[in-house]
Amino acid sequence: MSSSPSCHSGKDLMRSAAASSGKSDVLEQYAKDYPVGPHDQPQSMCPAFGSLRVGLRMRRTATILSGSACCVYGLTFTSHFYGAKRSVGYVPFNSETLVTGKLFEDIREAVHALCKPEQYDAVVVINLCVPTASGVPLKLLPREIDGVRVIGIDVPGFGVPTHAEAKDVLAGAMLGYARREALEGPVQAPRGGRAKKPTVTLLGEVFPVDPVTIGRMLEPMELSAGPVVPTREWRELYAALDCAAVGALHPFYTASVRELEAAGRKVVGSAPVGYEGTAAWLEAIGEACGIARVKVEAAKNAVLPGLLGALAQKPIKARITLSGYEGSELLVARLLVESGATVPYVGTACPRTVWSEPDRQWLEARGVKVQYRASLEQDLAAFREHSPDLVIGTTPVVQVAKEAGTPGLYFTNLISARPLMGPAGAGSLAQVINASLANRPRFDAMRAFFEGVGTGAAAGVWEQPPKDRPEFRAQYAATLARAKKAEEAVGT
Ligand code: SF4
Repeated sequence: MSSSPSCHSGKDLMRSAAASSGKSDVLEQYAKDYPVGPHDQPQSMCPAFGSLRVGLRMRRTATILSGSACCVYGLTFTSHFYGAKRSVGYVPFNSETLVTGKLFEDIREAVHALCKPEQYDAVVVINLCVPTASGVPLKLLPREIDGVRVIGIDVPGFGVPTHAEAKDVLAGAMLGYARREALEGPVQAPRGGRAKKPTVTLLGEVFPVDPVTIGRMLEPMELSAGPVVPTREWRELYAALDCAAVGALHPFYTASVRELEAAGRKVVGSAPVGYEGTAAWLEAIGEACGIARVKVEAAKNAVLPGLLGALAQKPIKARITLSGYEGSELLVARLLVESGATVPYVGTACPRTVWSEPDRQWLEARGVKVQYRASLEQDLAAFREHSPDLVIGTTPVVQVAKEAGTPGLYFTNLISARPLMGPAGAGSLAQVINASLANRPRFDAMRAFFEGVGTGAAAGVWEQPPKDRPEFRAQYAATLARAKKAEEAVGT
């Protein structure tokens, strides 16, 4: 029997196990980079999915997971559900290999076998909860093998609160590695050669057309859009570091920002979303890059009238509550407000950072309640309090809204998978939202049709209508309470 911690051990035990296994420095850094609260557990998918996805989307990069088989199964399934075109590597373990240190040897062997320079630029190894808690020392892996970089990271659910921030764990580790390489000597140029104009690196996974739109907006300032971090290729990391300024479009890339600032780059928060957001962002970028006033004005004049026209042409007349875990929630809320919607509440699973401050201030000045690290309970309470015409949210929030006959849109699949920047963003958002609002009569018809067939435990087809038994529930609750008391008495 092993004394190693398991998935069911609870976060406190996992944390203290990880700390006593030599991971305190990693956990302390995560606690600083990704502060928790009001809830301190992920309420969405396994956070490691963020790191896995970043690795899987990069060319010539292999990704290996080290963790419990059930976690790896779930992560592999999700990555393929989201269209990964590559295999996920896995080094299995059992109690014995975990506690004797053989797992680390197995990982090292797997990494050596995989480091083929003709196939890969980098091999990423991700420690999930149990190997992190057990202190599997990925930092002892070789830094590179035959020219292939080896990146080992710990991404435990008890240390990284969201999958969004897990993207930053890997992106930051890669930027750090690339920055040290650039300091040591010449590095590879981007695939299409170095940019002719100074660039603005964009932080955050955005819809593919958004960087193109931003590039066009930057032209009058004689700037161009640089790579998007997380990058799609190792050599893009050097180009990302080699920029005039950074646009933190998504505000949770703390570790990546640390590396970009260490390279001497200024970081600008918010994003060119809506009329006022775009004007303020172009001003901030112009200032960060030392661009002459006249060119900043030219950039604004080139885009703002079109934006105003797009917003006026596609108004949104509705009360909407919004929540998500992608990091772009505040930006979407701004665009909704500028389109004419009433937005009483926006919740984001991400933490409050300086890079979303302009958006928070703008929204709060217009009466929007901004909730960072929003819990599912807070999102649902906002839905009940404000009786919106439309709910944009995570799966469980949208499910509750639809059950109540309110149209709902999934933030991740339907909102963050569309352009957001410039006139294209305004038009596209209004289109999907107005189409969904028009569905209300269908919800009413469905509710009327299914009225009286039962809900909750009574839903379904029955020979006899199910009878609620509250006395059984009370009995079990009392038994559980007695068992807990007895357990506590033994523990004291
Ligand atoms: S790695 Fe941790 S957070 Fe992820 S599924 Fe496994 S136990 Fe849960």
